[in-house]
Amino acid sequence: MPVLSANLGFPRMGANRELKRQVEAYWSGKVDVSALLKTAHELRKNHWILQKNVLGLDIVPSNDFSFYDHVLDNAFTVGAIPKRYRDVFIKANDDLLPSALEGDLLSTYFAMARGFQQLSSEGSELPVIDLEAMEMKKWFDTNYHYIVPEFDSTQQFKLTSNKFLEEYKQAKSLGIETRPVLIGPVSFLLLGKASPNSPAGFEPIQLLDRLLPVYEEIIKHLAEAGACSIQLDEPCLVLDLDPKMAQSYNVAYSCLSVAAKKSSAEPIKIHLTTYFGDITPNLSFVLPHLPIDSLHIDLVREPQQFETILSAAAKHPTIQLSIGIINGRNIWKSDLCAAFDKVKKAVEVLGADRVIIAPSCSLLHTPHSLDAETELNPEIKDWLSFSVEKIKEIVLLTKAANNGIDCIKDELEANQRSIQARRTSPKTHNPAVQERLGSITHDMMHRRSTFDKRWEKQQEVFKLPRFPTTTIGSFPQTSEVRKARAAFKRGDISQEKYNEFINEEIKKCIQLQEKNDLDVLVHGEFERTDMVEFFGEHLEGYTFTKNGWVQSYGSRCVKPPIIFGDVYRPKPITVEVAKYTQSLTKKPVKGMLTVTMLQWSFVRDDQHNKLTTQQLALAIRDEVSDLEAAGINVIQIDEPALREGLPLRHSKWQEYLNWAVDCFLLASCSVADTKQIHTHMCYSDFYDIIDAIIRMDADVITIENSRSNLKFLRGDSFTYPNEIGPGIYDIHSPRIPLHEEMEHRLEEMLKRLKRNSVWVNPDCGLKTRKWNEVDLALKNMTDVAKKFRSKS
Ligand code: GLN
Ligand code: ZN
Repeated sequence: MPVLSANLGFPRMGANRELKRQVEAYWSGKVDVSALLKTAHELRKNHWILQKNVLGLDIVPSNDFSFYDHVLDNAFTVGAIPKRYRDVFIKANDDLLPSALEGDLLSTYFAMARGFQQLSSEGSELPVIDLEAMEMKKWFDTNYHYIVPEFDSTQQFKLTSNKFLEEYKQAKSLGIETRPVLIGPVSFLLLGKASPNSPAGFEPIQLLDRLLPVYEEIIKHLAEAGACSIQLDEPCLVLDLDPKMAQSYNVAYSCLSVAAKKSSAEPIKIHLTTYFGDITPNLSFVLPHLPIDSLHIDLVREPQQFETILSAAAKHPTIQLSIGIINGRNIWKSDLCAAFDKVKKAVEVLGADRVIIAPSCSLLHTPHSLDAETELNPEIKDWLSFSVEKIKEIVLLTKAANNGIDCIKDELEANQRSIQARRTSPKTHNPAVQERLGSITHDMMHRRSTFDKRWEKQQEVFKLPRFPTTTIGSFPQTSEVRKARAAFKRGDISQEKYNEFINEEIKKCIQLQEKNDLDVLVHGEFERTDMVEFFGEHLEGYTFTKNGWVQSYGSRCVKPPIIFGDVYRPKPITVEVAKYTQSLTKKPVKGMLTVTMLQWSFVRDDQHNKLTTQQLALAIRDEVSDLEAAGINVIQIDEPALREGLPLRHSKWQEYLNWAVDCFLLASCSVADTKQIHTHMCYSDFYDIIDAIIRMDADVITIENSRSNLKFLRGDSFTYPNEIGPGIYDIHSPRIPLHEEMEHRLEEMLKRLKRNSVWVNPDCGLKTRKWNEVDLALKNMTDVAKKFRSKS
């Protein structure tokens, strides 16, 4: 058998984000379910045909499609649907037969993802049905977010959705054999959480024995339908795992291997996939014990594991090794010569029939294809490779492995020319920026006084009430805002007209905030498609794609800018808008900046992220100084992705946190004591990096918490020395937060935080909401703050 080429997952949204559009149209009632299903059907079909027939990939995944999130799909498949959602949508609970995601199941699915609220027809304030969305969390160190499965100690699992089978069959009917993907049972449980009323000591992994029969059933169904192999993703194998987990993996895969063997005359093969890191510390969990047929490892992220795993695999003649040598997380063209060396080595040690060539992880994290990028600078475009191009690279390498390197001679030459051009291009190196990096001193990284002193001075300047209210920055990005921006970008409206339009939106935004009595106002970020893209567009060293979207959560996609060279700020970015906004109101307006630029960009792979971040920090520092000089007294520097950059293994945390926090300090510390620096963070766990957050020394931190249930307060000894605004309502859901629930949240927080240091604000920016929702929600929110002021 020759070396095979494989993919582990393809971006779902479609070349033009067709899925996003259709899902959103369905949510807003513009199209019905059959239209939604039809789009899904078409997209899957196109993606399979593209991968298999057009690009010539040997192993094509199925069940990598999702209407919202594949972890939620997995929860659905095994029936991990919390009772509160079942009760509303699914009547004959026990008779639920596995079916495709349609009808009530689809409603339940979206309710779990987004929350669901049904207002009473009599117009009373209390809704008749009111379900919050489930918790959402960042997928490892990516900017993809998954819905956290929730498990009860009495949890029963039952095959509930047969999406995996339907999709396999759909591909088969097109003549395409696919490898269905599911999250492996151990990672699935480890990624989940115990439901709130679970008894102490309960951990989801204790449910493994109950879960496995459903996986056995899945394997059986797939085998009966003719599937040759199944991909089980176990990314948790790259984490620091309790040694006891070895036993769980063993139990799980022994059981599944038996199921696979007896599934049909030709046993279905189990392909175990790991990605985003090094599995060698947990290698004993996998080899020699697990009865699997193939193992995938990420050699881009962790090339050092190659030797160890290769020699371990060599001892197990039945195991195939899938080498992830094409970066699934970044957009640079691969150096095919270097990649081919790895292929050669694997083939030498294992033999061609035991080697599979694959991307490092699912291509979910890279954009669809370069085809649409007609406006990129051709020199830079030649350095890039998106999902489609990455699959081409995989197919080329496979061809070379099977027929000799000469058969890809021309492609290889072209590839080496691009690699060389990027390495030596003056576009990537700017001596002035590099020189400035050398002049960073420790003094640039602390404020002039300690927080207590600053606090006193700031009290005098701002005279804010207790429980001051604010928002995180963005206000509704309506279709008019998007249309105006698009028209401006196309050149259909002048800069002047566009500015006028934006200024009108800002006015509306200020009026709404004043009407609802907010204390520290924002301009609404209407000029920004996406906060990171906006800043990148104004910095040198960055470039942008027209269509390089990647899924962030649900239907939301982001278009990460590409940092290709040394970064600097040629001129002020936000100063004019901040000044204009401040001229509209007597209340303080926050200047809004972002440092998360690194994590939410496609970064250089030719220098350490620390250097790139220092360059970004200096650019932001310049902006902070200019805002200060322009009379802006409150400046927020968003840092939502601090945790995203954390290495997956604890041993490497400190080193990262040291330089990341230093960069925040470098960006923020130039200002006078009377200026208030805010920062904002969201959608991840913070309790275990709280020391680093404290070291950032922002005067105020606003922090998402309503969707992750006060988790940042975990640990009894939590104290936060500066001011803090834990979000008191979820902004992802169209439901209007009620007084009682916000009061309850605030009450809970006050048990743990100093009363005079608490701010009242939503979880995150309001850009995905509608104006009327924002109006009602902020009214309720400021009511709550006022009530608390009068209470004590
Ligand atoms: N200021 C940004 C906004 O309000 C923050 C977004 C974020 O944290 N993701 O949209
Ligand atoms: Zn946020």
